[in-house]
Amino acid sequence: MPELPEVETVRRGLEEALKARPKITQIEFMRKDLRDPIPIKKIQSLVGEAIASVERRAKYLLLRTNKGTLLSHLGMTGTWRVFNVGEEKDHDHIYLSFENGLRLAYRDPRRFGVLDFVAVNSDLRHPRLRHLGFEPLKPELTGESLWQKLRGKKTTIKVAIMDQKIVVGVGNIYASEALFDARIIPTLPSAKVSRQRCEVLVAAIKKILQEAIAAGGSSISDYQQLSGEAGDFQNRFKVYDRAGEACRACGTRIRAKKIGGRSTYWCSTCQK
Ligand SMILES: [Zn+2]
Repeated sequence: MPELPEVETVRRGLEEALKARPKITQIEFMRKDLRDPIPIKKIQSLVGEAIASVERRAKYLLLRTNKGTLLSHLGMTGTWRVFNVGEEKDHDHIYLSFENGLRLAYRDPRRFGVLDFVAVNSDLRHPRLRHLGFEPLKPELTGESLWQKLRGKKTTIKVAIMDQKIVVGVGNIYASEALFDARIIPTLPSAKVSRQRCEVLVAAIKKILQEAIAAGGSSISDYQQLSGEAGDFQNRFKVYDRAGEACRACGTRIRAKKIGGRSTYWCSTCQK
């Protein structure tokens, strides 16, 4: 499943493709069977508008126009690509055509993705956006703000930092990697993480996400950049998917266990 760095890499690709701010000339729906119904009429109302910016909130891509926003979530297997006539594929859901000849396609074989519409200035009221927690790369996520959220929580720290109501976009891979970097064992109860360790953890989350974005994300499942290239952060995983292998810091064998239903990896020497 694409996590925040992969979605941010796609955002940057879309932003680059749309930097001339072309107007949308046509929107075609090839399939209508994503996880939820697609508000086709509302999305069609964007024809004639220019994409003013491509933003990201959590793992949602927001293609903004003056008349409303096209919201996209990649689900498990969603991809955006630039394409030419004749390069249509099975499982393409939507085609956006622009006045400068640019064509964008959204393709999603497993159909867990989302295409939705957000009215102007209504992000904070939109059902998909209104309950989201701190954006990890923004100044709002600090050791102090995380610590305040963790007080009284009964879950483990790994489950807490993957909770979208607390902090968004830290999925299974980057949660394991950030906890290793911060030397915090994933099973530690959230309420026992001190303010000082929250500072270290927040710094680790920001660092790991930024490194992964710089590497173009991790190539996992069907994730692709807009260019069709794969990211290469997966080659730098310190603990994720390395059960039984030697810790890169101390040589101890990496442990693995399901926590909150998700595979979790850690070094029992480095992380306490
Ligand atoms: Zn170690």
